[in-house]
Amino acid sequence: MQTTTNNRFDDLAIKGRVVYPTDSDWDAAHQAFSTIVDQRPEAMVFPADADDVVTIVNYAREHGVRIAPQATAHNAGPLGELDETIVVQTSDMADFSIDPIAHRVRVGSGIKWEKITPDLSNQGLAGLHGSSPDVGIAGYSLGGGMGWLARKYGLQTNSVTAIELVTADGQFRRVTAENEPDLFWALRGGGGNFGIVTAIEFAVYPVEELYAGAMFFPFERAAEVLHTWRELLPTFPDELMTWANILHFPPLPEVPEPFRGASYVIVMGAYLGEEREGRGLLRRVRDLGAEIDTFAMVPPIELGELAMDPPDPLPFVSGHEMLGELSEELMDELLEIVGPESGSGTTVTLFNLRHMGGALARKSPGAGARATLPGEVSLFALGVAPDDEAIQAVQGRIDRLVAAAQPHRVGQYPNFVEEPADASTFFDAATWARLRAMKAAYDPQDLFKGNHYIPPAEARAIELAA
Ligand SMILES: Cc1cc2nc3c(=O)[nH]c(=O)nc-3n(C[C@H](O)[C@H](O)[C@H](O)COP(=O)(O)OP(=O)(O)OC[C@H]3O[C@@H](n4cnc5c(N)ncnc54)[C@H](O)[C@@H]3O)c2cc1C
Repeated sequence: MQTTTNNRFDDLAIKGRVVYPTDSDWDAAHQAFSTIVDQRPEAMVFPADADDVVTIVNYAREHGVRIAPQATAHNAGPLGELDETIVVQTSDMADFSIDPIAHRVRVGSGIKWEKITPDLSNQGLAGLHGSSPDVGIAGYSLGGGMGWLARKYGLQTNSVTAIELVTADGQFRRVTAENEPDLFWALRGGGGNFGIVTAIEFAVYPVEELYAGAMFFPFERAAEVLHTWRELLPTFPDELMTWANILHFPPLPEVPEPFRGASYVIVMGAYLGEEREGRGLLRRVRDLGAEIDTFAMVPPIELGELAMDPPDPLPFVSGHEMLGELSEELMDELLEIVGPESGSGTTVTLFNLRHMGGALARKSPGAGARATLPGEVSLFALGVAPDDEAIQAVQGRIDRLVAAAQPHRVGQYPNFVEEPADASTFFDAATWARLRAMKAAYDPQDLFKGNHYIPPAEARAIELAA
């Protein structure tokens, strides 16, 4: 509810909402998933539908205000300063439909994965969502999207079949490989730099059941468990995705026993196949004797709970690198920083290693700007940090992890980068040049600010926008 009058955008005539920093509902409206991030745009704007989006784009362009498109604010950190900018959050545009015959889904661009995964699972289908179904489909899909089935089916962005958006000229466009191949290419990896996406269509996959679960070992056994997992990686088929975590569960009442306040090293996985084969592939890990073993044949809905990601916003700092290979020496170095002897339990809440390769390394025909991800393993670390002292402690520990990774670093996955960054480093030179050319073609005045920013190719256009 707005409590002030004569606000700057009072003549913006939309069915949706405009929320200002002075409004009583500002706190909820501008909340990011990391509560450390305080996004401060001129206003948060929530369109009700695609017509509203057209009105907003025309209004902003005519009034010299920039637009940062957003779905859920799960990756608001990289946006940085938002002066003379409105955040247009499409979270109220969250309708969806599933075509179980064609294996296609259409969603409004503000929807979260959790809204569609139960229906998909009930129909024997799985989408390529990641660890947390609380994440928005839009940002996840436009930036890449690397989840449990990624070694088999690749990045979610390359399962996208159509994107509807409003571009800087106020045009509503339905973009596919056939009618606007260049823009379709740029959107699938280039994120929110080209317009406000209103709807996305994508392929989903027939999965009645899969062999999935987690093996929990005492934190003290991190070295033997992680080395065993690491040695097995080259033997795993594309049908098996495994992640290895060190996880320090917070001592909070909402965390169930026996996990509350406990620390574990966990090998989790999802195998598109039968239990007998899955057990065979993971036998060496299981032979180590897990304290808890949840692996079973399960419907795909269970994948949403597997990683035990926090469902609610929290204050955290994170770091990430893609590693060309995870050698024995590097594993030992990383364990010195986050292993049992390191005292890391008060800083790095989650240390996550994801097996890459398979379809993630193969460029599929017609892929977008984010065609593949490099490396054998993705490293992601996160620490809950409620105050400045904790932020410093977490950042220090994560900086050490990142430094240890440097000699083996082969890049970064932009969706895992949670702070302002030079987006050119996420792409090879040819892809970056083409993205900038597409930005100049569709948004020469630089109206849209994606979380990872792509400037238009011509320097003159950048000067005009500044
Ligand atoms: C708990 C958690 C778990 C995660 N797990 C995974 C995982 O397993 N795999 C993985 O790949 N990623 C994962 N991520 C990262 C996730 O993919 C990114 O944070 C992603 O950007 C989130 O998308 P969003 O739409 O929810 O976020 P938002 O912050 O709303 O959007 C991020 C960016 O996407 C673009 N965008 C969003 N909506 C629109 C729109 N309507 N129009 C145009 N552009 C738009 C904008 O550039 C925006 O800045 C995780 C993140 C969190 C917080």
